[in-house]
Amino acid sequence: MDLELVTVGNELLLGFTLNTNARDLARTLAPAGVRVVRHVTVGDTAAEIQDAVVSALDRTGFVIVSGGLGPTADDLTREAVAEAFGLPLEIDPHVLRSIEARFARVRPGQPMPQSNRKQAAVPAGAQVLENSRGTAPGLWIDRDGQVVVLLPGVPRELNELVRAHVIPRIQSTGEAARVVASRVLRTTGISESALANLLDDRLQAVTEVEVAFLPSLEGVDVRLTAAGPRTVVSLALDAAEAVLRPVLGAHCYGTDDDDLAALVLSMLRSRGASLAVAESCTGGLIGARLTEIPGSSDVFLGGVTAYANAAKIREVHVDWDVLTAAGAVSEEAVRAMALGVQARFGATAGVAITGIAGPSGGTADKPVGTVWIGAAMAGDVAAVKRHLPGTRYEVRRRAAQAALDLLRRLLAD
Ligand code: ATP
Ligand code: MG
Repeated sequence: MDLELVTVGNELLLGFTLNTNARDLARTLAPAGVRVVRHVTVGDTAAEIQDAVVSALDRTGFVIVSGGLGPTADDLTREAVAEAFGLPLEIDPHVLRSIEARFARVRPGQPMPQSNRKQAAVPAGAQVLENSRGTAPGLWIDRDGQVVVLLPGVPRELNELVRAHVIPRIQSTGEAARVVASRVLRTTGISESALANLLDDRLQAVTEVEVAFLPSLEGVDVRLTAAGPRTVVSLALDAAEAVLRPVLGAHCYGTDDDDLAALVLSMLRSRGASLAVAESCTGGLIGARLTEIPGSSDVFLGGVTAYANAAKIREVHVDWDVLTAAGAVSEEAVRAMALGVQARFGATAGVAITGIAGPSGGTADKPVGTVWIGAAMAGDVAAVKRHLPGTRYEVRRRAAQAALDLLRRLLAD
C-alpha cells in the first residue's frame, strides 16, 4: 500500500526544525506494509495545505498530514482540509470535554483558553483518534475509500498516535499482509564506488531486493529492501544477504545497528583481552566511542591524548629521534605510540592515531587528511596510512572509525 506525507510548518521550511516526523512516519509505517512514495512540506498557509493534500490524494488515495492542529492562528490544517472537501466543522462535545479535562489535570485552577476550543472541531464524518499525550486529537477522514489522516506536529504525540491508532487501522484493512522491510550490511574501509564495483555482477542475482549504497562517516551501508508478504520478504532478505555478504568479505562488519566499537570490544572480551589507546589528532574520540558502549570497562583500560610532541614522548615513550627524523605523522611514530600505550597500561592491545586533521598543517607529502593508524596486539604491531577526505570534523571521525577497523581486521585474522 502506498501513501504520501504532507508535513506542515514554516519552521520546517525555514530550517529551524528538522523534519523528524517525515523520517519517523516512513520508518514506522514500512514494517506495517506502507510505502511512503512522496513527501511534501508546505508552510502554514491554507491554500498550500489544500493544494498539497488534494494532489497527493489524487495520486495515491491515502495521505497523512502532520502539523498545524494546534490552538493558535497559524494552525490551519483542520480548517483548510475541511474546506477543501466541503466538510462542515463542528465542535465535538466529547472531544471538548476531554480537552477541558486535560487542562484541569495539567493546569489545575487555570481556565482553558478559548483558543483551545477549536481543537475540538471535527470535520463532518471524520473519526477522532484520541491523543493521550496532548490536546489535539488525530482525525481520520475517509471519503469513499480515499483517506486523509491529520496528526499533530509534536513528535511525541504524532508517534504515539501512529502506534496506537494509525497502524492498527491500516492493519485491520488487510493490506498489512504486505510489508516493506530492510536489512543493512555495514561496511567500512572501502569507498562507495569500489563497493559498487565489487557487487556489480552479483546484483542481477538479487533482483527481488532493492540495493542502495549509503555513505556516512562510519563507512558505506548497503541497504537491502524488499516488499511483499511478510514471509516472502524475510526469505528474500536472507537470500540476498547470503549472496552479497561473501562478496563484501572482511569489509562487512555487521548488520543493521551494529556498532564497530561494540564489535571490537566483544571480540577482545571473548579472548579475555584488554585495550588501551593513544590518540593524537582524534583527541579522545576513540575513547569516547568505546566508553559509549555499556560494559566497556572490562575490556577498555583507558587512553592518553598525546597531542604535542612532548606528550608523545612523555606519555607513550616515543623517541625524540623518531619525531625529528620521521615526523609526528609517520609510520614510526604511530607504531611507537601503539606499543607505548600498550606497555604503559599493561594492555593486550594498543591502538594509536596520528594525523593531520586540517584545515591547515598539510604539506605536499603529508596533505590534510593524512592519518597513520597503528594497532599492537600481543607482540605484533600493524600500521596503515589512510588519506581521509573531508573537513576537520569528518577527518577526525573517519580516523576513529578506521582505527577501530584496523583492530577488528587484526582480531579477525
Ligand atoms: P501544537 O498543538 O503544539 O500547536 P500542532 O499540531 O499545531 O501542535 P505544529 O504547531 O505544527 O503542530 O508543531 C508543534 C511542534 O512540533 C513544534 O515545536 C514543531 O517544531 C514540532 N514539529 C512540527 N512538525 C514537525 C516535524 N515534521 N518534524 C519535527 N518536529 C515537528
Ligand atoms: Mg501549532
